[in-house]
Amino acid sequence: MVDADIVIIGSGVGGGAMARSLAGSGARILILERGERLPREPQNTDAEAVFVQRRYRAPERWLDGAGQPFQPGQYYYVGGHTKFYGTAMFRFRERDFEATEHADGISPAWPIRYADLEPYYAEAEQIFGVHGQAGLDPTEPPRSGAYPHAAIPHEPLIGKLAAQLAGQGLHPFHMPSAVDLHPGGSCVRCGTCDAFPCAVGAKGDVETRLIDPALLHPNVTLQTGSQVLRLLTDARGQRIVAAEVMHQGQLQTVRAPLFILSAGAINSALLLQRSASAQHPRGLANSSDSVGRYYMNHNTSCLMGLLPGTVNATRFTKTLALNDFYFGSGAAAEALGHIQMLGNIQEPMVRSAMPLLPHWAGRLMTRHSVDWLAMSEDLPHCDSTIRPLADGGAQLHWQRTNMATHGRLVARTKALLRSLGFPLVLSRPFGLDTPSHQCGTVRMGADPAQAALDPWCRAYDHPNLFVVDASFFPSSAALNPALTVAAQGLRVGEYVRKQLHTF
Ligand SMILES: Cc1cc2nc3c(=O)[nH]c(=O)nc-3n(C[C@H](O)[C@H](O)[C@H](O)COP(=O)(O)OP(=O)(O)OC[C@H]3O[C@@H](n4cnc5c(N)ncnc54)[C@H](O)[C@@H]3O)c2cc1C
Repeated sequence: MVDADIVIIGSGVGGGAMARSLAGSGARILILERGERLPREPQNTDAEAVFVQRRYRAPERWLDGAGQPFQPGQYYYVGGHTKFYGTAMFRFRERDFEATEHADGISPAWPIRYADLEPYYAEAEQIFGVHGQAGLDPTEPPRSGAYPHAAIPHEPLIGKLAAQLAGQGLHPFHMPSAVDLHPGGSCVRCGTCDAFPCAVGAKGDVETRLIDPALLHPNVTLQTGSQVLRLLTDARGQRIVAAEVMHQGQLQTVRAPLFILSAGAINSALLLQRSASAQHPRGLANSSDSVGRYYMNHNTSCLMGLLPGTVNATRFTKTLALNDFYFGSGAAAEALGHIQMLGNIQEPMVRSAMPLLPHWAGRLMTRHSVDWLAMSEDLPHCDSTIRPLADGGAQLHWQRTNMATHGRLVARTKALLRSLGFPLVLSRPFGLDTPSHQCGTVRMGADPAQAALDPWCRAYDHPNLFVVDASFFPSSAALNPALTVAAQGLRVGEYVRKQLHTF
């Protein structure tokens, strides 16, 4: 038996933000993380190891909605998915917090507004060391201060494309990025960043920016290799009293007056459902029947613009983004989504997606391609579910929405790239096995009949349980999620700190 004042389950963005926020409180904080620290090794930047051999992917097999098995792109390490993230650190736009109509339905309003998060967005940008330049993107929300670091300058080819876009009357802007890439910074422009772990620690990930600083406080402990299997309640089914943990092959019971769940949107929803009891047959925190529903994951496509006469020598590509189609404009405005540069695609990455393509063709394509990501909003659908299976696995039924809209964004992007001089543009949507932007499965809302969490991410059913990973999102917006998870984690951390004595 282990005791703590606060147990944090998962060391990703939400858990890390809470740990850093609560570290100075003096409370005994125990972070339980199922994974280990990711080793720095040559394979970190080896596309063959990362994409073909799937060296770092969790060896899990889930079922899709039709019962077909697949290996999801899940990564269990200290720092969570940010060990692999592309460092794009966006604030959601003001309208993302309001109800918005889309072709397939309504993107619901959040129970908080942009102004509620703004101070915490600013704090999170400082913590992660975000580079950026305000004032270029018309959709940008108001800011209380400048970015902590100046924007990362475009390399020559990307700069030329940015100038061409601006020449068409569009508003390309510098992508906000959390990478230590400035004079004196540790980034070596290795050319691998998006979807790779950083071999030199230059990525502003959660391990280096939130967990390690929290661990400088003697009251904070990180226990790795510790998968939480179930949460247990008191006899009335109200308070969470303990977590059952598998640690080094032994079942451990960890007791605490306060539990912060942050295992990622999919695993938090699974854990709550696996903790079902006589009082809570549908799982904990689930009197609204929303836990495990409303799964969202953005509609994303990768686009390769081919320039036959030009070798793309860009090392750090992720400096350019475009939001001109984000809300649409004019009378027939449709919110299509967001466009940003993708990290450099390498031949093994193409091969892992298209095994039949000859190596030479993949090499030729990737030498001459400039790679983009088009991202559209996915809407919360009550039949978009993640459910635990009796054998310990999980079934992910992703009820996709807004795909026609996404198709229009991809078509628009292709036309745009052709107008910039790319004679050939290839595109491929990301599928169910890439749940990189998973969210929505334990959503917050103002109405306990419709949502599991209140606007402070506290479970309506359990006064001493908070859920702070991306599962709290009521809608997905069409921008990368990590900064919003961090900002809400810092906001909830401050809220909890002020009332620690009440738990
Ligand atoms: C390849 C890739 C690229 C991405 N690029 C970007 C980007 O550029 N910008 C951006 O904003 N977002 C990006 N994302 C998404 C971003 O990483 C996630 O939105 C973010 O990490 C979500 O934070 P979280 O706290 O919800 O979950 P996570 O960060 O995934 O953390 C969950 C943690 O819980 C642990 N855990 C799970 N189950 C248990 C359990 N039962 N017991 C104990 N521990 C458990 C996990 O190991 C993990 O450490 C990317 C994701 C991927 C995979």
